Formats: sequence, C-alpha cells, structure tokens
Amino acid sequence: MNDKLLIDVTRLDKDGEDFEGVLDDAVLELDGDLLRPFAGVRYDLFAQQLGRELLVRGTLAQDFDAVCSRCGGDFDFTVTVPDFTVSVETDDKTEYVDLTDEVRQSIILSLPTYPVCRPDCLGVCASCGKNLNEGPCECTREETDDRWGALDGLKID
Ligand SMILES: [Zn+2]
Ligand SMILES: [Zn+2]
Repeated sequence: MNDKLLIDVTRLDKDGEDFEGVLDDAVLELDGDLLRPFAGVRYDLFAQQLGRELLVRGTLAQDFDAVCSRCGGDFDFTVTVPDFTVSVETDDKTEYVDLTDEVRQSIILSLPTYPVCRPDCLGVCASCGKNLNEGPCECTREETDDRWGALDGLKID
C-alpha cells in the first residue's frame, strides 16, 4: 500500500491515463474509536494534462469499522466519493503532483457526523440503557401502558 498518491506528470500519456490502487488509510489521520478506517483508500482515477492544468477525476472509497452514535453497536460501512475532482496548475518543472491531501479532505468531508448502524436504529433507552434494537425494555412498556391509559381517558362518551 502506498502512503502517497503521486501522479508522475512527466510520464503521463497525452490522452490521459487511469490510476487505480489502494492508499494506506493512515493518510486519513483519524483518531478516536468511533470511526476506524481499514483496508486502505481505494481509488479509481483518470488523469489528463490539459495545457498547464492537470485534471484528475474519479472515485474514492474507504471502509470503516464504526460505533453507532445511537445504540453504541459496532457496524461496518463504506464511504464513497463518486465525483472526486482535482485540478492542479503545473509548469515545465513539475514532475510529480501529490494528491494525498485532496484524497484525505474528500474522504473526511464525506464522513457522517453521527454514524448510525441503520437509518431506523432505535438507539438505547435513556432510562435503563438497554439497546432497543434488541427489543423493548421495561420502561418502554410502562410508557406504552400510560399512552393507552391516556387514550382510554379520552373515550369519555
Ligand atoms: Zn445503532
Ligand atoms: Zn428502559
């Protein structure tokens, strides 16, 4: 796995070239336990020199081991950047263009602020802490009973 994504502009094909590979996910510099990248950043890019501009476009994908912000459960998910685009000004002296920072920023910007294991995750009960995805807790049952009680109270006539 490479720890830098470099485009060698001196050898770049005039009609453009595909760049595919995996970049070490350490380049993302993510700390903390909520989102742990694994298996590297997959990139599938097309680079072309247009005059003085190096244009690079393609997709990025990164797998994460995550902790759900609602229920605290572990889950895996993939962040994809379907429209990664970078334009770099080059001159006669340019040999390599380093896209590592752009890759890092694109992935980081695509991360969810509050990762959830599934859109309808029920989270944990605020009172007893039980994971409600595994079933209702005692407190929920009481609440439900209260609600029925309130409805009964409305049926006066
Ligand atoms: Zn969850
Ligand atoms: Zn509860």
